[in-house]
Amino acid sequence: MSQGGSSNVIDGRRISQLVQEEVKLHVEQLKSEHGVEPGLAVLIIGDRTDSQVYVKHKVLACEKCGIRSVKVELGKETTQEEAERVVRELNGDSSIHGILVQLPIPEHLDEKKLLAEISFEKDVDGFHPTNIGLLAMRDRKALAQPCTPSGVMEILRREKVETKGAKAVVVGRSNIVGIPMALLLLKANATVEVVHSQTPRAELESAVKSADILVVAAGKAGLVDGSWIKEGSVVIDVGMNSIPDASKKNGYRLVGDVQYDEAAKRAKLITPVPGGVGPMTVAMLMHNTEGGRRVASLT
Ligand code: NAD
Repeated sequence: MSQGGSSNVIDGRRISQLVQEEVKLHVEQLKSEHGVEPGLAVLIIGDRTDSQVYVKHKVLACEKCGIRSVKVELGKETTQEEAERVVRELNGDSSIHGILVQLPIPEHLDEKKLLAEISFEKDVDGFHPTNIGLLAMRDRKALAQPCTPSGVMEILRREKVETKGAKAVVVGRSNIVGIPMALLLLKANATVEVVHSQTPRAELESAVKSADILVVAAGKAGLVDGSWIKEGSVVIDVGMNSIPDASKKNGYRLVGDVQYDEAAKRAKLITPVPGGVGPMTVAMLMHNTEGGRRVASLT
């Protein structure tokens, strides 16, 4: 089956567009009713071309939503003290409502320590231990939730996927995708199973076979066999893997972690790669930056 066009294929670009249009409206309201212009500071350390591309997308999305963005660039030799000082300055700047550090940062820097310097009220990535702690607790709410998993929840909500009582399986347990994904699904009353690199393959297979909602974030092309997908389930493929493809001008193409063609025959709904979860991440970053509750707590 080809990606796109089919009725069971989730159009992440369209949903991302809708989210950004809503953000734009909220930003206009914040400006006209409260005189607040949300501001996002993006800190980029070093000279990685891929990071520059990601940051460019974020800055463009800000422009589209009416959010002021400030790009702070530091050289690859920047010291830990210098990077932390810049973050503290941004913490104290009342025109900045969100701060994000573009990852990865150069190896000589301590990522955990740097991220923990961001005040949790300005943590638009939702990675701060306080925000993750709030996310993990019942009846508590993080000020911002990690963008990729909350993008998945937004897809499920807009596609009217029932999470209550559903069996959800999350493949992967990273701090930025798998763990917060499992917590969000749990909060949405799903019964959640998390499988990871240490899970025996037979258990990975049986978990996938049992999933009403499957979210895969392993970063392994084709890890999930399409024939394992439960008939009528919802398949969300977060994986983004470049594989060689001589027919492409740049010599490669992007694929997910799920063997798409076979999976798409069985799933009720499925996200393609690219064009599924990917576009949602930036949209949710915009949502987090505008996030009324957080911005209000800062003004
Ligand atoms: P990560 O490398 O930090 O974590 C991968 C996780 O997958 C680990 O927890 C590991 O235990 C698990 N895993 C690895 N091999 C496995 C296997 N054989 N069986 C079961 N589990 C296995 O990666 P990440 O940052 O969580 O990202 C995962 C994927 O999602 C990557 O392809 C990444 O590019 C993609 N991603 C996409 C977006 C987006 O916006 N669409 C955002 C973030 C990450």
